[in-house]
Parts: sequence; C-alpha cells; structure tokens
Amino acid sequence: MAGLGSKIRDFFTRSALSTDFYEDLEDKLIEADLGPKLASELTQLLRKAKAKDLQTFTKIVDERISPLITAEKLTLTPDGLNVLLFLGVNGVGKTTTIAKVAHYFQQSGVKHISAAAGDTFRAAASEQLGIHGERLGFRVVKSHSGADSASVVHDALTAALAHQDRLLLVDTAGRMHNKSELLHELRKMDKIIRQRVPEENYRRILVIDVNTGQNCLRQAEVFHEAVGLSGVIASKYDGTAKGGVLVAMARDLQLPIYFLGTGERPDDLSVFDAKAFMRDVIA
Ligand code: GDP
Repeated sequence: MAGLGSKIRDFFTRSALSTDFYEDLEDKLIEADLGPKLASELTQLLRKAKAKDLQTFTKIVDERISPLITAEKLTLTPDGLNVLLFLGVNGVGKTTTIAKVAHYFQQSGVKHISAAAGDTFRAAASEQLGIHGERLGFRVVKSHSGADSASVVHDALTAALAHQDRLLLVDTAGRMHNKSELLHELRKMDKIIRQRVPEENYRRILVIDVNTGQNCLRQAEVFHEAVGLSGVIASKYDGTAKGGVLVAMARDLQLPIYFLGTGERPDDLSVFDAKAFMRDVIA
C-alpha cells in the first residue's frame, strides 16, 4: 500500500532537534498532499502545544483530522433499480472501476446488473466496458462513438427497467471539446436518470486518481457543482500516491469515500476504512 507514514515517522526521529522543525514538517505534510491549508493548521497546532514528537502529532491527527473523513458502505436500496453514475476526468479509472463495482455487487449476490457506455467521446471506452461485461457477465448498452450520451443512458434505463435489473452502472465522458459542453452533457444524463429513478436509488460517484494530488480537488468541485456528488472512489492507490488529498477533499466537500482502487483487476477494490487509511497516510 502507498502512504507517507514511514516518511513522517522518519522525519520525527531525525528532525526533532532541528531549528526549522515546524517549517520542515509543514513541507512534509504538503508533500503528503494534505494541501497547504491543512498542513499549516496541523503545524500550528503542534507549535502551540510546543511539541515535536510523533505521539502528540498522532493525537492531534486522531482528534482533528480523522473525524473529518467518512467511510460509507455503498449499498443498494432494497426496492427497484439502483443507478450509479460514474464521473471523473479522462483516464482516472472510471471504466475499470465500473467493472470492479459490478464484480463487488456480484460477489455479494446481486444478479441482474447492467451498464451504460455513456462515454461516447472516447471510442475505446465502450469497447472496453463491453469486454468487462462479457468477462464478468453483465449486460452493456452501447452506441456508436460520437453518439449522444444522454440517449445511451435513456436506452440503458429503458432496458434495465424492462429486465427488472437491480443495478445500472453508467459510464460518462471525462473530456469534451470544452468544459461547458461536458457539464451540459452530464446534467442532461443526470436529468434523464432523475426522471425515472427515485433519489434514494440514485448515486453520483466521483472517481479520482489519487496520484494527481491537489488537482483532484478542483475536479471534484466542478463535478459536484454539475450534478451534486454522493461520494468518492479513489483509484490507483497501489501507485506512489500519498493519499492526503482524500483528507483535503473530505474536509472541503464533505463527501464520503466508498472504496480504494488498488490495481487493474476486478477484485482490486478495497472497502474504505478511514482509520486504517489515516494510519497509512500519517501515523
Ligand atoms: P477512464 O478513462 O476514467 O475510464 O479510465 P480507465 O478505466 O480506462 O483507466 C485508465 C487506466 O488506469 C487503465 O490502464 C486502467 O487499467 C488503469 N487503472 C484503473 N484503476 C486502476 C487502479 O486502481 N490501479 C492501477 N494501477 N491502475 C488502474
């Protein structure tokens, strides 16, 4: 697993006597992707406590930071079709995450799952989703590249309701010719889903690549503004990522985290555990 834990620990053992201790700590926390605001606040708290030890730091993190991060179990409502709309910029791992989430629900006994290839901008995306569907055994509704993504979602919803599916996973484009066009497309899809599925059966899930650091925050704000996000799945946690960005995101947008993606295979998905995660990032 990735994480900056050992580096922070090393820092405390090596640097306690350094005159630049607090400045250096702040730099280390920024490196861990906690963002400048949170890094500065944490350092201030330690400075106020006149402490330079890992124990006090861990206590401050436990009291002030860990409660900010919410883990939420992604569950389906017992009645009717549930729809999960996956959002995120190109390449973060949306299509792969859809396969993982389908597999996760299949493992817990959910049958009748389908997916909509709503990323009609990237030609390979629907093909890729189709391959996942064939391998794992869920139906995929697709259209030709460049087609209207809202109409793909419309068709997939009609089919899912006709088949009495329990779950429909909707892929979306992460890139368009420009931002306003992308937001327009996403809002159109969102509206179509809301017209046919009750609010409690519908979740908007942001997929972020933890390796992109603080950029994730800006991305999250844009998607949140477009459709109102329900929660986050953080992919590529098996890379070099420090993961601190999730803390900053949880604090700024107050979104729960459902899963961490830890590889490219369908079962490379871990249910998010806030405590274990914080231990990994900091303590
Ligand atoms: P999309 O454009 O958002 O749909 O992204 P894709 O699902 O196509 O993923 C982009 C690349 O990231 C692919 O090569 C995936 O195999 C890879 N990928 C996705 N999730 C993970 C993950 O959790 N760990 C690793 N190492 N790679 C991942």
